[in-house]
Amino acid sequence: MKKSAAAKKATPAKKAVAAKKAPAKKAAAVKKVTAKKVTAKKVTTKKAITKKPAIAPEKVTAAVKGASTVKTVTPKPPTAESRAALVRRARRINRELAEVFPYAHPELDFDNPFQLLVATVLSAQTTDLRVNQTTPALFTKYPTPEDLAAANPEEVEEILRPCGFFRAKTKSVMGLSKSLVENHGGEVPGRLEDLVKLPGVGRKTAFVVLGNAYGRPGITVDTHFQRLVRRWQWTEQTDPDKIEAEIGALFPKSDWTDLSHHVIWHGRRICHARKPACGACPIAPLCPAYGEGETDPEKAKKLLKYEKGGFPGQRLKPPQSYLDAGGKPAPPLGAG
Ligand code: SF4
Repeated sequence: MKKSAAAKKATPAKKAVAAKKAPAKKAAAVKKVTAKKVTAKKVTTKKAITKKPAIAPEKVTAAVKGASTVKTVTPKPPTAESRAALVRRARRINRELAEVFPYAHPELDFDNPFQLLVATVLSAQTTDLRVNQTTPALFTKYPTPEDLAAANPEEVEEILRPCGFFRAKTKSVMGLSKSLVENHGGEVPGRLEDLVKLPGVGRKTAFVVLGNAYGRPGITVDTHFQRLVRRWQWTEQTDPDKIEAEIGALFPKSDWTDLSHHVIWHGRRICHARKPACGACPIAPLCPAYGEGETDPEKAKKLLKYEKGGFPGQRLKPPQSYLDAGGKPAPPLGAG
């Protein structure tokens, strides 16, 4: 396949290793490339020249299945980026990620808006996997907001115990169920302003529900999203609401929900917080943070998670597209 042939050619990892050994040489090399390629504006970013290449060198091969073959970009530090160039790069990253994760979806199992709302509230401080392993028992016993609102809290606590913070989470899901019954006729509202008034529901949770249960565009600024958009220098904001506004302005509204999935999936599988798998990253040529993680392709490959690493996903009932792409369902609670 073209990809694997090109992979042999691809040298970002080698360059990075060499650069590690000989920082002076690396600095000189990068300087040379920068001077050669960037003609319109003189690049003066010291950081880019002395620390590491601003982005991966040319012809980095997409190392992950599903990514397109060879990506070539001009090594121009994003600090010199115009607004138009930033928009182009951001949209290109999103397009590349759509190829890498064509089956991206919310990683919480749900059959209706109520289940998604409850599962999203439960997912605070724990993994989607753990929530998915817990909610079948919850929704079998309490299928509607009326049922959960009228439940015995101690019994709900017992079911939610595996999710952690089970007392507080019991209070939240019972409280929001009561509010749904009292104020919305037992239905989950489809408007942001109503959703955020429910107890324990913030903008992030509201956008998950709007985007995935009602098909209304929303950006989900979770921990992965925050980390990645800053790594990519799409924004310098740290406040989730400001991040949401700035990133939203880079994309058409119709892209927001899928963009959120792509970014979060990339953060969970490849661009990890502590050890990003740069050497196996299909968007390395577009990333100013290339080199922050493992650049050796073989070592980087071992850092990949879920289906990209050959492991089960987080959903017990994933969509068919995920299974068709070779993804495996997560095991039920206690099975692995
Ligand atoms: S893994 Fe993350 S930091 Fe590394 S090149 Fe890819 S997007 Fe950039």
